[in-house]
Amino acid sequence: MSGQLEGRVALVTGGTAGIGEGIAKALAAEGAKVVITARSPEKGAAAVERISAVGDVRFHACDVLDQAQVEEQVAWTVSELGRLDILVNNAGGTDGFAPVHELSDEAWNKALNWNLNSTFWATRAALRTMLPNHWGRIINISSVEGKVGNKHSLSHYVTNKHAINGFTKAVAAEYGALGITSNAICPGAIETDTMKTAGASAAESAGITYEQFLDVFAQESMIKRLNTADEVAAMALLLASDLGGGITGALISVDGGTSPW
Ligand code: NAP
Repeated sequence: MSGQLEGRVALVTGGTAGIGEGIAKALAAEGAKVVITARSPEKGAAAVERISAVGDVRFHACDVLDQAQVEEQVAWTVSELGRLDILVNNAGGTDGFAPVHELSDEAWNKALNWNLNSTFWATRAALRTMLPNHWGRIINISSVEGKVGNKHSLSHYVTNKHAINGFTKAVAAEYGALGITSNAICPGAIETDTMKTAGASAAESAGITYEQFLDVFAQESMIKRLNTADEVAAMALLLASDLGGGITGALISVDGGTSPW
């Protein structure tokens, strides 16, 4: 550990598993005090035990589908740790996979809250506490589907991740001169818990097996394999650092070369 985030406070939504846990671990290992939020206290306790091996971390319950809880997690972080410097909007996803003509209102509206709206609610609350400090880092976990969007039955996911990319740029433009950066990381497929459940369901809806579904992602990439949470975490760490201050409004692919841009 080089301690490059010593004195910083970070909040990682969906930080108890997968990509979020990988990012929380990387930030904690560099000296940040980290809050991880998610729904399950049991998963939270287990993640705290794992991340504590490398740094300072605590769990706070939050369901990002609920605006009040999203705003409260930011207030809780500031009341517990005195500040918030780094916000990682990682929690997100979709269910109810179907082609557009069969997609339900319920799945569409849930996707909006789970992804775009939760990112907006948390970012707005975080900006209000970052502005007086003239320093802040907003890191949104988007997806290769925020750039490409060529998969069947994922229109609600594709739409939300594209919208998060647009929001990322708008925030970057408004706050760049005030010491606050805003970037999105667009990961390729990673075999996390969500991938195992949602990916299997999306594959079924598309009429292919889960293995074929994963292989589509691998074969589309230049590295011919899936990505890893640690690869995404390495990029998040750069964006969170002082040296990352020159990067803003960027939609950074960690997708093994899948997206052409
Ligand atoms: P994951 O391993 O399944 O972890 C999801 C995390 O989010 C868990 O901590 C989970 O804990 C939490 N979570 C889920 N729903 C939540 C909710 N409503 N409110 C608060 N927390 C919630 O998922 P992942 O694959 O790492 O995905 C993380 C992000 O990366 C998502 O935004 C996803 O779209 C994006 N992404 C994933 C991939 C991929 O291939 N895996 C690729 C590109 C982008 P609880 O269940 O306890 O709430």
